[in-house]
Order: sequence, then C-alpha cells, then structure tokens
Amino acid sequence: MQSVNYLENMRNGIEASRHIVCLLGRNVSADCGCFNYWDSEGAYAVETNYGYSPEEIFSASFYNTRPKLFFDYYHNEILDKMGKPGEEFRVMKRMEDERKIFAVITRSIYGLPRRAGMRNVVEMHSSVYENKCSHCGTWYDLDFMKNASGVPFCPKCGAVVRPQIVLDGEMIPNEKITASANEVARADTLLILGCTLRSTLARGAIKYFSGSRIILINEEEDYSDSVADLVCHGKPRDVLPKVYG
Ligand SMILES: [Zn+2]
Repeated sequence: MQSVNYLENMRNGIEASRHIVCLLGRNVSADCGCFNYWDSEGAYAVETNYGYSPEEIFSASFYNTRPKLFFDYYHNEILDKMGKPGEEFRVMKRMEDERKIFAVITRSIYGLPRRAGMRNVVEMHSSVYENKCSHCGTWYDLDFMKNASGVPFCPKCGAVVRPQIVLDGEMIPNEKITASANEVARADTLLILGCTLRSTLARGAIKYFSGSRIILINEEEDYSDSVADLVCHGKPRDVLPKVYG
C-alpha cells in the first residue's frame, strides 16, 4: 500500500464527494471468499472435475444442452462457495447509511452488497437470489435452489427453475443497463473497488460519468490507473477503513 499522503488525499476526496456511486469489481468477491474461476487454480480444478472450463459451463448453450452437469456445477461451486461480506462492506454500508454512497453497481452474482444490508444495488448479472420457473414464472429463493438436488423443478408446473444470472452468450437486460447508466450519470464521484478501469464493469460505467472524480482502490497496478484521479493499490478491505471514518 502507498504512503500516508495518498490515503490523506483519498480521504479528502471522499470527504468532498456529495454523491458517490460505487463499482464493485470481481477482486472484492474473491477477497470475500466467493468462488473465483478467474483464478487459474480454480479453473484447473473445474476442468479436472467436470471436463469443461468454467466459461464453457457457465454459458447459455451449455445450460440448454447439459442441464444436469450445469446444476451440479452450480450447486457445488457457486452455491457452496458464496463467501461472506467482509470489512469493505461494513464501511460501504455505513457510507450508504450516511448518504455518501448512493448506489452500488456490480457484475458479481453472489449478492454480497445486499447480504451486507445495502439497499440500492444494481446487479448487472442478477444474483443467486433470483430464480424463476421457466414456464409459469413463479419466483424461488436461494434456499429453494440450495435444497434442490440435481436439476431444480418447479413444484407448481414441473418445469426447470432457472437462476436469472446472465450466462455467457446472453445479453444483460436493458433495464439493468439503464438503471446503471442513470445511477452513474447522477454521481459526482465514481468509487471503483477491486477491478481495473479496463474491466468490462468500469468501461461500461465510465462512459455515462460526468462527475468530477474517479477514485480507484485495487491491489494490482495497471496502465489504465492513470485515468483515475486518486488511486490506491491495496485491497479495498484494507484501504476503505483508513479513508472513511
Ligand atoms: Zn412453474
């Protein structure tokens, strides 16, 4: 982590912000213990156990052609490795309560912000909490999915209950894109945590941003960091408590 001056600048930047919108990247989910298939060890283990890469399995075509294997993976890797919100979420929740953060936008599917009690969250890829019968449209919660063994079938009509998660090869619903764009357009500060400015999440948001300050907290250095006004290279869970409160 960088010098105290950096932290001081960041603290001042947050202090001066009136309307922060927070982008939550995948490194935050990984820090919280969520299954991380971008990690090469995790990906290798999946290939060994399932015979396919995580990207192949988590795709619309795989879901449609091999639902049994898809749901084995979904139960064993996703639902059993959901992690839990850490220190960074405790601070973010307080920032929301104190009307510093007005919205959180994420592509993570683990529902970490809402598990931390945050209220205004745009989950671009939906989450494990939203599951719907593909035929009659009845909604089911996470417990229903956890308790189902194999392919989950709707008790009302017998059709497959599908997680509403956006799989590879599917489009993000327009209402999510609109909601995210509207939140970003209102922000005076974008607080980007746990991803680079080159990430799909950040690139998708920045084009709607017309505020005054981009603050980045991410462990890895990247050439795109120079686009941000304030940068700290550390884990958000270590840095955020030092720069807020
Ligand atoms: Zn049904």
